[in-house]
Parts: sequence; C-alpha cells; structure tokens
Amino acid sequence: MFYSHDENELMAIGQKIGQVLKENDVLVLTGDLGAGKTTLTKGIARGLGITQMVKSPTYTIVREYQGRLPLYHLDVYRIGDDPDSIDLDDFLYGQGVTVIEWGELLSDGVLDDYLEVIITKADDGRQINLRANGSRSEELLREVDNG
Ligand code: ADP
Ligand code: MG
Repeated sequence: MFYSHDENELMAIGQKIGQVLKENDVLVLTGDLGAGKTTLTKGIARGLGITQMVKSPTYTIVREYQGRLPLYHLDVYRIGDDPDSIDLDDFLYGQGVTVIEWGELLSDGVLDDYLEVIITKADDGRQINLRANGSRSEELLREVDNG
C-alpha cells in the first residue's frame, strides 16, 4: 500500500510501476472520477520512457504512445456496458502494455492476468492499493513493492 500527498507523488509511484513493466502486462486503474487514474498513467508513461504528453482517453477510448514499449492507454467508462464495441485483443495481445481506466466495468473473463491499482481519496492525498490477479501480476506487485 502506498500513500501520495500530491499529484507529483502519485506520478512518481506510476513511474516506478512503468519502469518494471514488460510486454503484454495489463493494469486496471480503479477509482472515482478525479481519483488520479490519468495522473498515475502519466507517471507510468514516464517510467516507460515516453516523452509525449499523455492526455485523458475519455473521449477517444484509446490513445497509443511509443516508449521503451508501446503504451495502450484506454478509458472504457463509455463502453463498460458494451464491451463488444472495442476489440481489446488488439491491445492485450499487442507488443506493448495496456493500462485501462475503469477496467473493473469490463465483463468477467475479458482480462486474464492483470494488476489492479485501486486509488482512493484520503484527505487531500490518495491511497494506492495493488491487487494481483494472476502469476505475472503477482510478480509485478512484488517488484513494485520492493522497488
Ligand atoms: P481520473 O483519471 O481518475 O479521473 P485525474 O488524474 O484526471 O483523475 O485527475 C486527478 C485530479 O486530482 C487532478 O486534477 C489532480 O490535480 C487532483 N489531485 C489532488 N490531489 C491529488 C493527489 N494527492 N494525487 C493525485 N491527484 C491529485
Ligand atoms: Mg482519467
């Protein structure tokens, strides 16, 4: 469990995660509107060596960036009840890492092994909890915790 006092600390946690990500890793970011899912993704992008500005994919559903690995940044809030409207396999089985805001809205079984990052508002800061859902995400969780 981590605590971030401000946006920069949250980005630093994201950066730490981004540094240890490998091809085909999947992250689900869970948290209310304004919790910091996009902010965390900016840090992840930095950890992947991405220099482009990361913008919220809320209206476009997906944005793609190129770094040490490609980053597929999705926000599925708008497709949560209609998962067929996007072919997730293009990303999940692509060459990069997939970060999904509101991924908990997807149907059960759509995702295989993924690390869930739960961001909760706590006073002015944010509490960050990690939950693994498979062997690769367990390994990832340990690396983030120890790093
Ligand atoms: P989401 O993608 O979850 O809707 P964003 O990352 O777009 O959230 O927005 C988070 C907002 O919360 C930003 O405006 C940011 O400045 C603000 N904020 C305030 N305190 C924090 C904190 N401790 N960590 C992260 N963001 C914070
Ligand atoms: Mg967002």
